[in-house]
Amino acid sequence: MRGKRGLVMGIANNRSIAWGIAKAARDAGAELALTYQGDALKKRVEPLAAELDALVVGHCDVTDAASMDAVFAEVEKHWGKLDFLVHAIAFSDKDELTGRYIDTSEANFTKSMQISCYSLTALARRAEPLMKEGGSILTLTYYGAEKVMPHYNVMGVAKAALEASVKYLAVDLGPSAIRVNAISAGPIKTLAASGIGDFRYILKWNEYNAPLRRTVSIEDVGQSALYLLSDMGKGVTGEIHHVDAGYHVVGMKAVDAPDI
Ligand code: NAD
Repeated sequence: MRGKRGLVMGIANNRSIAWGIAKAARDAGAELALTYQGDALKKRVEPLAAELDALVVGHCDVTDAASMDAVFAEVEKHWGKLDFLVHAIAFSDKDELTGRYIDTSEANFTKSMQISCYSLTALARRAEPLMKEGGSILTLTYYGAEKVMPHYNVMGVAKAALEASVKYLAVDLGPSAIRVNAISAGPIKTLAASGIGDFRYILKWNEYNAPLRRTVSIEDVGQSALYLLSDMGKGVTGEIHHVDAGYHVVGMKAVDAPDI
């Protein structure tokens, strides 16, 4: 990753998946720029940025087009180019990450789609002119896009649309040598995940039933992200790559899985 410059969006704290990816990219020699969402997270992100010698290119709320423009203007001012972009952003009202999907409100459906899905497209459009020598864009998704998971509800629908966006963006940007991929991560205890109803149960279920008999860590996701962000993955685009200890291949409860 030496000589590569990447913008990482979605660090809330040192348990964030984006932090696992940023650390792996930095350890491999990349130069990084980070954003934060609002003043509360600024205090968390600034010391983390210092650990990685990363630029902090400001506040970015993906519901605010001006803040997205400002971040890319900062990146252009500092670097004049961009080699990779990590999009690790999602949101839904946690009151709707429990109970039945059918009860999703129109307001939360629209907001969840905007933040968790449309933002990838909005950011990719801003990244494209800076990726003059090609580039790699990576987002994060979850198995709840493919199969119904308890309480994942509107986030499952947003992730399904996000995965389709990855493929459409890969086709649009492929001629410019810009690759677009997603990692479908197994469940990890983060701030965002703590909003999902019965999340501890989901973690245990994965640990007992995944082929590797464990859950994954942000370091696991970081290592796989390196492949997709670096030239090791230069022939890969439009891909949804599972980093879930193999859980997605399993058809039923393992015979030796204990009761939860
Ligand atoms: P996290 O809480 O650490 O990160 C979520 C980030 O989204 C935060 O940094 C937050 O500031 C940002 N965000 C939310 N709304 C935003 C907005 N309007 N503008 C800008 N940023 C906004 O949690 P995480 O689990 O690391 O989540 C990162 C990504 O990984 C998400 O897309 C999530 O769906 C995905 N993911 C998580 C898991 C898991 O089990 N934790 C599994 C698969 C995929």
